[in-house]
Amino acid sequence: MPGPKGTYDVLPGAEFGALAVVREAMLAPARLAGYRYAEAPVLEATELFARGVGESTDVVSKEMFTFPDRAGRSLTLRPEGTVGVLRAALDAGLHRGQLPVKLRYAGPMFRAERPQAGRYRQFQQIGIEALGLEDPALDAEVVALAWQAFAAVGLTRVRLQLTSLGDAACRPAYREALTAFLVGLELDADSRRRAQLNPLRVLDDKRPEVQAQLTGAPVMVDALCVDCRAHLAAVQAGLDALGVPYEPAPRLVRGLDYYMRTTFELVHDGLGAQSAVGGGGRYDGLAQAIGGPAVPGIGWAMGLERTMLALAAEGLGGPQEPGPAVFVVPLGSAAKACAVALVGALRTGGTPADLAYGERGLKGAMKAADRSGARWAVVLGERDLSAGTAAVKDLTDGASTTVPLDQLAGHLRRLAVGRERDDR
Ligand code: AMP
Repeated sequence: MPGPKGTYDVLPGAEFGALAVVREAMLAPARLAGYRYAEAPVLEATELFARGVGESTDVVSKEMFTFPDRAGRSLTLRPEGTVGVLRAALDAGLHRGQLPVKLRYAGPMFRAERPQAGRYRQFQQIGIEALGLEDPALDAEVVALAWQAFAAVGLTRVRLQLTSLGDAACRPAYREALTAFLVGLELDADSRRRAQLNPLRVLDDKRPEVQAQLTGAPVMVDALCVDCRAHLAAVQAGLDALGVPYEPAPRLVRGLDYYMRTTFELVHDGLGAQSAVGGGGRYDGLAQAIGGPAVPGIGWAMGLERTMLALAAEGLGGPQEPGPAVFVVPLGSAAKACAVALVGALRTGGTPADLAYGERGLKGAMKAADRSGARWAVVLGERDLSAGTAAVKDLTDGASTTVPLDQLAGHLRRLAVGRERDDR
């Protein structure tokens, strides 16, 4: 029986089987930069998303999984991670401590979208948030960490698009100018409604017939006030210093008023229609929008499935779960007891090891050793045991060495450590 529409299973060898390894690899640069682990509930009050993501957005108006709990309170499966993590940080008063508050998170998000390649109803995101400061150097760090997340898994065809959405000083006048421009266009009812709620969102319409009409539209970057212009220049200088390439993206928008200044998206050209692999920006008004104090913030979220599809499009395997270094093949019950103890000692010492379970002959057990992906097989036969030795076989070239049992664990540990060093 398959899972619900728009979901998939993570299993070894399945399309997204490497999910956990990719997730950890992508978050590693943020961890090194001091972003600490955070987890907010998968379920939140519906109101949190209505206020924090915004009722005018497709996500809130059409895509949320919302239901009453047994007491009639409206709950929603989180469609994104920022609002919940921000709520949690504010509830805990982290913004009153050392700033910036730096957090990283990962987990499933839920949106009732039409499923297609790269678009699911339950999907996995990783994200970071930096709260409490408006320093453009912090913006540069956050954007750079997004870039580095993709570099960490080996992707080379990701493009970073960057712009500024202005602030309360310069955006209102721009918004008026854009509204005046949009009035003269032939837009369908849906776009007109969107233009009324937030004219900037019309710029984000991907349909060619809409894009064709937007050629001469005024763009925010041309209308930035002095402060916003300086902020953008400082972010760009920071990215230059960090060696992170970016493209100007004057049409890039985020739907809501509390998104301001730094805004960015990461796209991969090998993905077809769903080309966005991640995005983020500064959201200085969000904390207040969800009923909290004025706490500025900036963050991003990346989609893990699309990252893995991008890896496939680049012909890359991406990071993989490591197999055991050592696979022990015991022949007979005395050897089995010895194998169990050996594998236990190896694991305790940090060497990934496994053994052949079940009653298998040499041939079947060696096949299991091959399949495990291990580099070395240890064959423990009755005769070896009485001689006090074991045969250590290098599965890459078949070379076999005889090692005394009392030196076996140390010998294997040294081999495994040597391999780790070679891999680095
Ligand atoms: P957003 O929160 O909409 O900015 O999304 C951030 C990233 O999450 C996107 O760039 C995608 O990589 C990923 N994403 C968003 N929606 C979906 C979905 N329905 N299925 C898979 N990935 C998604």
